[in-house]
Amino acid sequence: MIGPGRAIGVLGGGQLGRMFAHAAQELGYRVHVYEPSGPSPAGAVADEETNAPYEDLAALGAFARSVDVVTYEFENIPAGPLKAVEAIVPLHPAPGVLHVCQNRWREKAWLRENGFPHARYAEALEGDIGAAAAQLGLPCVVKTADFGYDGKGQMRVDTPGDLAKAAAIFRGRRCVVEQWVDFEREISVICARTESGETRAFPASENIHTNHILDISIVPARVPAGVAEAARELAVRIADALGVVGLLAVEMFLAPGGALIVNELAPRPHNSGHWSIDGGETSQFEQHVRAVCGLPLGPSGALGPTVMVNILGDAWAWRDGAVAGEPDWSAILSEPAAKLHLYGKPHPRPGRKMGHFTVRGADVESALALARALKSRL
Ligand code: ADP
Ligand code: MG
Repeated sequence: MIGPGRAIGVLGGGQLGRMFAHAAQELGYRVHVYEPSGPSPAGAVADEETNAPYEDLAALGAFARSVDVVTYEFENIPAGPLKAVEAIVPLHPAPGVLHVCQNRWREKAWLRENGFPHARYAEALEGDIGAAAAQLGLPCVVKTADFGYDGKGQMRVDTPGDLAKAAAIFRGRRCVVEQWVDFEREISVICARTESGETRAFPASENIHTNHILDISIVPARVPAGVAEAARELAVRIADALGVVGLLAVEMFLAPGGALIVNELAPRPHNSGHWSIDGGETSQFEQHVRAVCGLPLGPSGALGPTVMVNILGDAWAWRDGAVAGEPDWSAILSEPAAKLHLYGKPHPRPGRKMGHFTVRGADVESALALARALKSRL
């Protein structure tokens, strides 16, 4: 066990690292953030921040030697630097887990080989999307194998015309082409797992995306109780099979007829788990700290119905591509059932996640209605 008072290293300096640092510090840990791209949201609240490329093995080694355990909040970390860290200090989740989850080809192949449900897909080498789409039929969705997030690097294809466009856009890139799933609901489950194999799954969250970016998460998900339970069991089985130490988020589609289809895996805190800071018995970030440090896991239930709304850079006023005004926070701040969280990012951009707010309510529908009303007054 790596007890409170020791130091945790975090690779990646975004908002997930920032909220992780908050939780770790509450438990008395020191936090050291390693972020290549300069002063970061996580670094701003950490005890220490190193800004250097992942390939700078001297800086990475010094970082690893300064802490007792390392975790990450960002998936696109190259394998070499992870190996270098692991040679010095425990690294959770293991690099092999990240290797599977950071590439859509490997992730889909892993799901298939391990017997977990996934959408029908075909691989398109060198961007040969036509052949892959012919196997699957339209509509389908083309996704780059590497470095996709928040809907970046993906395109829905409805018509042969779209297919020609996609072929031009994705030329020369490794892609996965997936059957479009006409889902009834999109849900996710975050599961924590310790080195000794103890697991705790949070309640299933229902996720509403706008332009492929998470917009709203609703807990508990509005699905039959049996489906929510099956989703949690599925997430636990996947976390066990992958041998995750830390958190695993499992994004799923609920297909018509009730089948659960795994969309994506993320071995880190997940946007759809932010509700747990205000609405969970234990937040996903505290659970992450507990899991990677070998502490007993906390209870993972919801305190009550909770809705989380993402705040994107779009909420700022824009004129000629420049910021012309801040959102009006007053409605959220004066609502007793709401909590505002901002990530301290100095430069808003449309589509960039700047913060979120949560609303707790007596029931899901009233919390959702209040959350939508508050969003419209930003
Ligand atoms: P990201 O890495 O950007 O989160 P995802 O694969 O999760 O990529 O896709 C983002 C969103 O796009 C999903 O949450 C879902 O709303 C939609 N989407 C992606 N793939 C499919 C699919 N095969 N069928 C239906 N919707 C999809
Ligand atoms: Mg996703």
